[in-house]
Order: sequence, then structure tokens, then C-alpha cells
Amino acid sequence: MSRAVYPGSFDPFTNGHLDITQRGARIFDELIVAVLINSEKNAMFSVDERKIMAREAAVHLPNVKVMSFEGLLVDFMRQERSRVILRGLRALSDFEYEFQLAQMNRQLAPETETFFMVTDAKYSYLSSRSVKEVFQFGGAIQEFVPPGVFRRLRERIPPAGLK
Ligand code: ADP
Repeated sequence: MSRAVYPGSFDPFTNGHLDITQRGARIFDELIVAVLINSEKNAMFSVDERKIMAREAAVHLPNVKVMSFEGLLVDFMRQERSRVILRGLRALSDFEYEFQLAQMNRQLAPETETFFMVTDAKYSYLSSRSVKEVFQFGGAIQEFVPPGVFRRLRERIPPAGLK
């Protein structure tokens, strides 16, 4: 049985993340979306909120589980008995960071393999950060995020800020 882990900050979960999750769920028997508990103070959503939003978005995918982890990804991988890390690649700019991360994880846990999925062209410009920025300035982001994420963003940033 193949079990892969798709780790990230998911602050918040976007349609780009959902695309990778859906495609991953077709390839692997089980896919764990793993929300990183990071100490970054500028996170918009708490880990629990990020988990809830990811879970809502992936509710139609029975082989997808949403969890959170703290510390090293490779420790979480071992704990969950998974050897495949799934990551999404948007542009060349993602590559250097992803390459370093994959090499480091391989060094730390030689049994793990990182699999990359190339983004669907329509999400290639989409990131959690751009969604937050555009929304903060009143831009329309409804088509970039799952409905539950849109709802929570609106609660977080009062509609007065909306155009
Ligand atoms: P991190 O903080 O670890 O970079 P993110 O939450 O931003 O995590 O993203 C998690 C993973 O999803 C990363 O591999 C990232 O490259 C990928 N990803 C993010 N946005 C998209 C998108 N629009 N299309 C495809 N993959 C994406």
C-alpha cells in the first residue's frame, strides 16, 4: 500500500493545493495532507483553522487525511510509515528551494523520496501569500480558493475592505 505525505503551511489552502491533493489521491492509496505547525508569527490562520479548511476542501476524497506536524518532516514520515513526500512545483523560482529541501530530507532519511507534481497552468501564479495580499486590498479571490476558505477570509477581513 502506498502512502504519501503532502506537507506545507497551507495558510490558507488554495485551489492550487487542492489540485495537487486531488491528483496525488489518484496516484497513491493514501495521502496525508500535513499542516506544518510553524512558529511564524505572521501566519493568518491557526493550525486548527488551516486543518479544518483543508479537510473541508478535500471532503470528497476518501483516501485523503489531514493532520498536523511539528518539527522535522522526516520524523513525521517515520511516525506515519510513509516514504513518499509529495510537493507541487509552480515555476523555476520554486525549484531551488524545493531542490534543497528534497536533498536535505534525503540526507536525513535516505528511505524517503520526494515526488514533484507540476502545477496545472491555471494555478501557476497562485500562492497562499498572493491570495492573502490580494484579499487584504479588496481584490476578488473567490475563484482561487475553496468556498470554506473564502468564507473564513471574509470573516477575518471585514467586508468593508471588499470592493
Ligand atoms: P510551504 O510553506 O512549505 O512552501 P505551501 O503551503 O506554500 O508550503 O505549499 C505547499 C506545497 O504546495 C509546496 O510544495 C508548494 O510548492 C505547493 N504549491 C503551492 N501553491 C501551489 C499551486 N498553486 N500549484 C501547485 N503547487 C502549489
